[in-house]
Parts: sequence; C-alpha cells; structure tokens
Amino acid sequence: MTIKKILPILGQPNPEQPTDVHLVGRYALGISWADNHSSIYPFDRLRLDDPAFEGQPPEALTDAMAWPREIKKLPDALRVVWADGRESLYPYAGLRALCRCAGCTGGH
Ligand SMILES: [Zn+2]
Repeated sequence: MTIKKILPILGQPNPEQPTDVHLVGRYALGISWADNHSSIYPFDRLRLDDPAFEGQPPEALTDAMAWPREIKKLPDALRVVWADGRESLYPYAGLRALCRCAGCTGGH
C-alpha cells in the first residue's frame, strides 16, 4: 500500500480532518472531509485495510468480521469495534489515503 502524502496548507481546511462520518446504505461508511471531499469505505474493505494487519490480512472475512458494532470519531483517528470483538484504529491521514474514488486513484 502506498500512502499519498498530502501537504497541509496553513489557513486552508485540512483535507485529513473529517467533518462528518455517516453510513452509506447498509454496507459502507461515508466520510466527508474538511476540504469538501467525500469518501466511501465498504465495511469489508475497511476491515481488510486495518493498519494493524501490515499487509497480512486474514484469508477470509466472516460476516461478523466485516460488521461494525461501534464507530467512534476520535480526535485523530476513527475507531471501529467489529461484531467479532476486534478493535481497529484508522488514523485519518491513512484513511484519506485509502479513498478509492476516481479523483483520488486517478481513474476515469
Ligand atoms: Zn477520493
């Protein structure tokens, strides 16, 4: 995984600061950022992208593993407690870098 570094510009909204965290449908998390960008993270993708795995995600996800029981906005990270009891911490900078929208991935 490559982390794109975003240079913060003083006086401008910080693109790594979420303004809103909400559900998108039943299977995804949506985050709006301070620079008006919106990202969508499907739950299963989010679980596989847990920074703690360090490139070694589990082979297969069960339903419980990809189902968030609690989502909390901390000052500098998003905390997700999954239905199987695992707790994942997503620092906002890393989360923003995980955005897979066309604008962020350079796709069309
Ligand atoms: Zn994006």
